[in-house]
Amino acid sequence: MTLAAELRQRLTNSEAEMIQIRRHLHAHPELSHQEVATHAYLRQFYQDLDCQVRDLGTGQGVVVDIQGGHPGPKLALRADFDALAVTEEENGLAFRSQNSGVMHACGHDAHTAYLLVLAQQLMALRAQLSGSIRIIHQPAEEKAPSGAQDLIAAGVLDEVDRVLGAHVMSTMPLGAIGYHLAESQTGRSNFQITITGKGGHGSMPQLSNDAIVAGSYLVVALQTIVSRRIDPSEHASLTVGSFDGCGTSNAIQQTVTLKGDLRIMKEETRQVIHQQLRQICRGIEATFGVQVQLDLQTDVPVLYNDPQFTQEVVAGLKAAQIPEITQITDFGAQDPSEDFSYYALQCPSTFLYVGCDVADGQTHPHHSPDFKLDERCLLIAAKAVGTAALNYLKPEK
Ligand SMILES: [Zn+2]
Ligand SMILES: [Zn+2]
Repeated sequence: MTLAAELRQRLTNSEAEMIQIRRHLHAHPELSHQEVATHAYLRQFYQDLDCQVRDLGTGQGVVVDIQGGHPGPKLALRADFDALAVTEEENGLAFRSQNSGVMHACGHDAHTAYLLVLAQQLMALRAQLSGSIRIIHQPAEEKAPSGAQDLIAAGVLDEVDRVLGAHVMSTMPLGAIGYHLAESQTGRSNFQITITGKGGHGSMPQLSNDAIVAGSYLVVALQTIVSRRIDPSEHASLTVGSFDGCGTSNAIQQTVTLKGDLRIMKEETRQVIHQQLRQICRGIEATFGVQVQLDLQTDVPVLYNDPQFTQEVVAGLKAAQIPEITQITDFGAQDPSEDFSYYALQCPSTFLYVGCDVADGQTHPHHSPDFKLDERCLLIAAKAVGTAALNYLKPEK
């Protein structure tokens, strides 16, 4: 039996444990930057295992090094473990969230469960590994400041040659492994715009300067950036998600605050949109005589999957002919942003998708109160990532 086949057999034997861990994490979700109990759970898991475990970064990050018995490269495997401010629907699950208003609605519980068991089984085989594996348990993926950025600043990628990550996907069928080359998930910027005019009596608009009217023109003008300034073949979106102008019916509003975000698939597109945002804000000031303060922040980079590494991973998975994996498909670029992109900026990396659709004829979108996954995806994720890891650590490299 090959080493990879032995690993997969061990993972099959550990499937129940993966599911049990996932259910525990699902019942006890924690918001980004507050993952204290999850951190304690991770440390407890590794306590009796013979490995180097350390806390890293300013948050709840946990890093584990598995040193192989033979020399070779260093591969990092990363899973995130934060949850979202979403209330899980009344779904009758025994492991429904016990933390009111918080839910593992993105599947990070599944990521952490499969990676814990995969790490444990890789440790059991460590004498036969050529190279080493760094397990990265990352907090704070969902909310800035990014947990990935923090761990990188603390040195998590020191001496690392490649990084591999995976995300479960409820939009992809169970059994599917998805991949994409090069630009694969959007980069994100967020902005807050405060417009200050002059408040006054609703019956005497000539004595005031209405921030709501200026803000309304601003929202409409912002819609022209993507539609009129960006090549239609480019991926870009701009959303104003909040317009806070709550006042009263007979008073002219002095100040309004707008919040929004933009997504792009190329960093050059981000620069065009940033420049247009600034220009339109100046234009609104000149047109309406208001003050416009723009707070614009680059949030997440575009996720770039190293084409060569991705192709090697995909070829290795196809050759392994893992029975639970029924298709390995380029699913194209994905709209959401993902802070795995910070690792990929520093080091050749790839990010796989693991189909987890429960196939009940309904959609269960990520970040929604009825997000659901088919738990058989845990074993598939562990086998795919574990197989790719052993392929990368092959002695001839
Ligand atoms: Zn998410
Ligand atoms: Zn996620």
